Amino acid sequence: MKIRQNLHIHSSHSCDSACAALNDIQKEMMALGMTEFGISDHLHTQYNLCDIQGARNDFLCYDRPKNFHFGIELSGISEWERDKIAAGDYVRYFDDPVYGIRFEQGPSDSPVCIGITEKDIKDLGIEYVIGGVHWPLYSTPEEAYHDFFRQQMYLIENPLVDILAHPWDAIEMAVGDWYHHRDKEHIKHEAILNIPQEYNDKLLEALLKHKKCAEINLAVVLSPSIPEACRKYYWNLLAQWREAGVKFTIGSDQHSAHYVPMMFSAAELILDSYGFKDSDIKYFFE
Ligand SMILES: [Zn+2]
Ligand SMILES: [Zn+2]
Repeated sequence: MKIRQNLHIHSSHSCDSACAALNDIQKEMMALGMTEFGISDHLHTQYNLCDIQGARNDFLCYDRPKNFHFGIELSGISEWERDKIAAGDYVRYFDDPVYGIRFEQGPSDSPVCIGITEKDIKDLGIEYVIGGVHWPLYSTPEEAYHDFFRQQMYLIENPLVDILAHPWDAIEMAVGDWYHHRDKEHIKHEAILNIPQEYNDKLLEALLKHKKCAEINLAVVLSPSIPEACRKYYWNLLAQWREAGVKFTIGSDQHSAHYVPMMFSAAELILDSYGFKDSDIKYFFE
């Protein structure tokens, strides 16, 4: 199949190292023949809403084709950290709490939430919302699967979220306790292969029940830094969900200044080999 959607692109307004200029994104996605594409910068907590405002201002500043859209990528955070940030009750470890409170041990049973309201989404002209898990919420490595499961369930069930970003991505870091050690030796890739089946069944059920899309995140399913068995695991999981009726969105998760041409041509071949068709993709703007 020909990839003609890319809803997951980070612009230079993203709070991380993403550095693409909007006019380069536009030029390159148009040249690739994308029917719909959009930027989706990170919003981790309410603290970095100003970055999204910056992206929005830039987006509105120049002439855009109708198929260029404005989205957002939300993270799961805990109510505990949301409330602490709102109260200014945090220690500045490295910088302001753009990434939430990650290095202080919070309660692992605090409910999951997101750092944006329905009114913010409307006021900022956000056309679609991708929600993803980016870190464990103070769970131990042993509890990481359940932690990621409960965050993903929350995101699927939240009416403000349209798309579940990169299912299970970063579980290999959470099981390896990377967020406590900040040390890549602690990444346990095999964790991807040991995701409890009952969690995948429940995620599938919730995706269908709430009519939410799962994302085919090209950066994850083509990642050169995970073992081949893990890439295959992800492709098989997505194909199983497709067989059960889930619809998907495609996103490159670009953080670089320019797109990687091979990413799309390679993904098209693999999508074909796993039986994906254009009709498995949900086009939000057609
Ligand atoms: Zn993400
Ligand atoms: Zn992303």
